[in-house]
Amino acid sequence: MSKEPDLLFTQLKDHFGHNQFKSKLQEQAIRAIVKRKGDVFVSMPTGSGKSLCFQLPAVVCKDKVALVFSPLLALMKDQIDHLTKLKIVANSINSKMSGGDRKTVVQDLRSIRPDTRLLYITPEQASTEFFQSLLQDLHRQKKVSYIVVDEAHCVSQWGHDFRPDYLKLGRLRQAYPDIPWIALTATASKQVAKDIMKQLSLRQPVETFKTPCFRKNLFYDVVFQDNMRDPFSHLAEFIKDTLKLEDTSKKPSERDSGIIYCRTREMTDSVAKSLIAKGIPAAAYHAGLNDRDRVQVQEDWMKGIFPVISATVSFGMGVDKGSVRLVAHWGVPQSIAGYYQESGRAGRDGKMSRCRIYYSKQERNAVDFLLRKDVSHAKTEGKKEKAKVSYQSFEKVVNYCQEAKCRHSVFAEYFNDDPPSCKMLKVCDVCQDKNAVEKQIEEFISHLGS
Ligand code: ADP
Ligand code: MG
Ligand code: ZN
Repeated sequence: MSKEPDLLFTQLKDHFGHNQFKSKLQEQAIRAIVKRKGDVFVSMPTGSGKSLCFQLPAVVCKDKVALVFSPLLALMKDQIDHLTKLKIVANSINSKMSGGDRKTVVQDLRSIRPDTRLLYITPEQASTEFFQSLLQDLHRQKKVSYIVVDEAHCVSQWGHDFRPDYLKLGRLRQAYPDIPWIALTATASKQVAKDIMKQLSLRQPVETFKTPCFRKNLFYDVVFQDNMRDPFSHLAEFIKDTLKLEDTSKKPSERDSGIIYCRTREMTDSVAKSLIAKGIPAAAYHAGLNDRDRVQVQEDWMKGIFPVISATVSFGMGVDKGSVRLVAHWGVPQSIAGYYQESGRAGRDGKMSRCRIYYSKQERNAVDFLLRKDVSHAKTEGKKEKAKVSYQSFEKVVNYCQEAKCRHSVFAEYFNDDPPSCKMLKVCDVCQDKNAVEKQIEEFISHLGS
């Protein structure tokens, strides 16, 4: 490390008031982006500071403006307000603004030295004549620092939030090959990443900065309901063991807690009832509750009033609770991506936590049946294709459960990461005792015929 003052650190502090980068990865991405050498793809979870990855480079690129595509006016407004507070000039062009406001924005952009460092644009603006001619002029005068696509998964039909307007952005890439592009997303799947690069025509080699998916404080395993005499008692013991429910020394909000994911409302109810019967305070959460009850259940669980919630997968979005010590799936998750995300709500505080699937033949067959039905009942080719992809995703989960292969390595392959160090750390059942897992699988398979 050189002792010279690092300009980027100074700028980080001066413009954004941060004393350090949020992570090594954020720093590496920013250092690559400021070089303006080529296209960059950033995949980091929500909250890890992706905005700074383009905002800091945009701010230090004097006299130029970064064009930022963002899917929602609300998201744009948040970022612009934040930047304005930092005295960074950020504007937007969207369909909701008045002609006068738009004129002011354009006037600055067309001036010799624009003050605007970031211009936020909704993707449907990209194809308007107004924007096309503005971009042409800015480009001719070499005033564009970057073209940024935030929430870039919106361009992919495989993503969960596809927006057709994002597809228009690919054409821009082709029209202006010399402007560096930056695409950012929280979606980690390999398929979506590939699709983003293709749809946006990112220029290879794309420099990629991706948070590794390996979470070494999560112990993963699979158990088989069909091999158990009493699966509910097994679950209750697992919970009591993991959550140390007798320990009442902590504040309720800091006590360990757990989530049991179920496929149906009925299952959330029966899991909650049987846990209560075994002395574990629990409540069910599903879309069938009225709004008030649903909010109440979630809040009580967040506050630690009861430790265990049995829920359908609609639960958990935006739930940020550090002390989730256990996530169990009662039955079979529908996809590896979904399972990774849902189970990943455990151990956000970095402490050792457990993720377990209570696999069962009945649940496997039920999901298999439903997904096959979706394929055969699909009315259009597009829908059939989607249904097939869903079925294939589910088959990967079946393999995950019925094969004795390191659980973390399944995720790593799925997300295109380097192999994880699970063999050494032993944070899955297979790496801990492969023979035992193989025996469990054999026993399960022997039940299948019966
Ligand atoms: P993402 O887009 O990845 O979800 P954001 O860009 O919205 O994340 O950033 C999340 C939070 O992290 C914001 O409050 C932001 O101010 C903060 N943040 C980003 N970079 C840093 C940093 N280097 N130091 C401290 N806080 C940071
Ligand atoms: Mg963001
Ligand atoms: Zn392993």
